[in-house]
Amino acid sequence: MRIDIITLFPEMFEPVLGESIIGRAQKSGAVEIHTHQLRDYALDKHRRVDDTPYGGGMGMLMKAEPIALCFEAICAEVGARPHFVYMSPQGRTLRQQRLRELAETENICILCGHYEGVDQRVLDRYIDEEISIGDYVLTGGEIPAMVFADALCRMVPGVLTNNACFTEESHFGGLLEYPQYTKPAEWRGMAVPEVLLSGHHQNIEKWRREQALEVTRKKRPDLLK
Ligand code: SAM
Repeated sequence: MRIDIITLFPEMFEPVLGESIIGRAQKSGAVEIHTHQLRDYALDKHRRVDDTPYGGGMGMLMKAEPIALCFEAICAEVGARPHFVYMSPQGRTLRQQRLRELAETENICILCGHYEGVDQRVLDRYIDEEISIGDYVLTGGEIPAMVFADALCRMVPGVLTNNACFTEESHFGGLLEYPQYTKPAEWRGMAVPEVLLSGHHQNIEKWRREQALEVTRKKRPDLLK
């Protein structure tokens, strides 16, 4: 999978997506992440990418043309038109099910908004999907884009050691994950549930399933509906 990110702050991404599991996935070639400085596509010598909104009102808006030029350059570089996502508090809230579908996509381009947002015309012309990371407003689309790219990349085959790493996790199958324990078997008077020490795989599976249902019922009863 190749992910292209259009942003005013490309330097924010490397410390996050260049480390740990996603960093290793990039080195192994399982995923490619490219950031693009939107100012490089500004039309004036001051490299301005924002302007005041028609009709008045607070703040600045990102102009349409630099975004269009940047996206067109990415299409040419990739040799295909990527699925174009705008990170937006107005979008559909990101869910694991949508990530499962999008993990099959070869090329994804992400637009990070800033200021008061983006000129509606460029969204109408180019954007395939708006994605929100929750019903609250951040100052920019960079953190949402990192959340989206991280969650997406870990579902790409070869990124995690085994697909079970994500198929057994919270949300993948609709439930939250069962409780987990590591050594020692007893810690400050608290013992690990007996069944996990039994080596009896069927009983362990049954216990985990029951616990996943119980945890979901307690923490997120809405998911059981
Ligand atoms: N004026 C916009 C509105 O009311 O819908 C909010 C603009 S917000 C201050 C600036 C940028 O942050 C947005 O263009 C978007 O890219 C990003 N952003 C903010 N909250 C977000 C969220 N919950 N999910 C995804 N992106 C978000």
